[in-house]
Amino acid sequence: MVRVDFGNRERLAELMDREFYKCYQCGTCTVNCLLGDSLLVRRTIRHIQLGITPENGYIWKCISCNFCGAQCPSNVDIAHIFRSLKALKYEEKNYPEKVNEVLWNVYEEGNPLGSPKKERFTWLQKTGSSDEYDVLIYTCCMAAYDKHGQDILMRTAYILEKAGLKVGFFTDSSCCGDAVYHVGDDYFYEEVANQNAERLDGYKAEVILTVSPHVYHNLKNLYPRYNARISTPILHHTQYLYELLNEGRLKLGKLEARVTYHDPCYLARYNDIVEEPRGLLEAIDGIEFVEMPHSKRETLCCGGGGGGIWLENEEARDVTRRRLDEVAYIDTNVMATACPYCIRMFEDESKVLNMDLNVIDVTELLYEALVQSVKAST
Ligand code: SF4
Ligand code: SF4
Repeated sequence: MVRVDFGNRERLAELMDREFYKCYQCGTCTVNCLLGDSLLVRRTIRHIQLGITPENGYIWKCISCNFCGAQCPSNVDIAHIFRSLKALKYEEKNYPEKVNEVLWNVYEEGNPLGSPKKERFTWLQKTGSSDEYDVLIYTCCMAAYDKHGQDILMRTAYILEKAGLKVGFFTDSSCCGDAVYHVGDDYFYEEVANQNAERLDGYKAEVILTVSPHVYHNLKNLYPRYNARISTPILHHTQYLYELLNEGRLKLGKLEARVTYHDPCYLARYNDIVEEPRGLLEAIDGIEFVEMPHSKRETLCCGGGGGGIWLENEEARDVTRRRLDEVAYIDTNVMATACPYCIRMFEDESKVLNMDLNVIDVTELLYEALVQSVKAST
């Protein structure tokens, strides 16, 4: 007979905002978990309901995609339950060795990769020395240290400038803390969040733009929970560019391409941003837009979320491949998305699979269309 540990259950309930009480054990989550049955989702939640803390190990595999949560008939925030378990295990000093390395990299160099802090902005042609901007861009660590990511950032800035805006980069930035949050180090996360919020408030800008859904989610939704408040409005670049398009401030030329769009989990499922990136693609004359079988809130995952991209989560490669199977199925070689993690994951895995696939940010197509229009007018 199993005895309920009421004390431990209450401790878990507080940690998880009582989410597990909504679960009535239908098992839909276990069937739908993108990592297959290795996470034992329903059983994990049952144990918690009985006041039993799940074992360590497998919980670290959760990539926080929240595909399970989107299918749950009782709307249980399952990804939050798993992240809370990681925080609990972190507090007990019971975590994979790689976690220490990631945290140390953020502490020492301001990014989870461990790349030198002083090289974060060496690629930046303009240093953004003005006091006031229309738009301030917050770079993601992945984009700042990656050639493709840097191109995306510069092209975003180019488009904004063509729309007549004064653009700057948040050059005091360090990691937004996404990796820190997902390994469960709440004290360090609070410090990172407050430091970034304070520095951001030192800039005068109409809007803060992020090219990463993870940065967006942290700044907008997670920071306030840690008392880190930013007074400037925060938008993902697809939202802002879509606004500019609707105001008639982007003149786009023609491109010939058959393109699909991968919805990043942290845009579509966590923040309901699905129409804006599609609106941008569909506005380009000559683009044939094709949807994959899973799209919008039902999107699959790149496998890189929840700290998975930093913790070398081997199981998550199957998740990446499952999405690439869908790209092959709809027969296109251009996959647009709007997240530096997704781009990195799909670029790497498609190379391993020898796929003829161009993984790009929506911005890159907009940039090409804008250049075409500039050429046509000169
Ligand atoms: S799908 Fe929701 S209600 Fe069903 S077992 Fe999973 S968490 Fe519980
Ligand atoms: S968030 Fe994703 S990986 Fe985690 S339990 Fe749900 S479906 Fe599985």
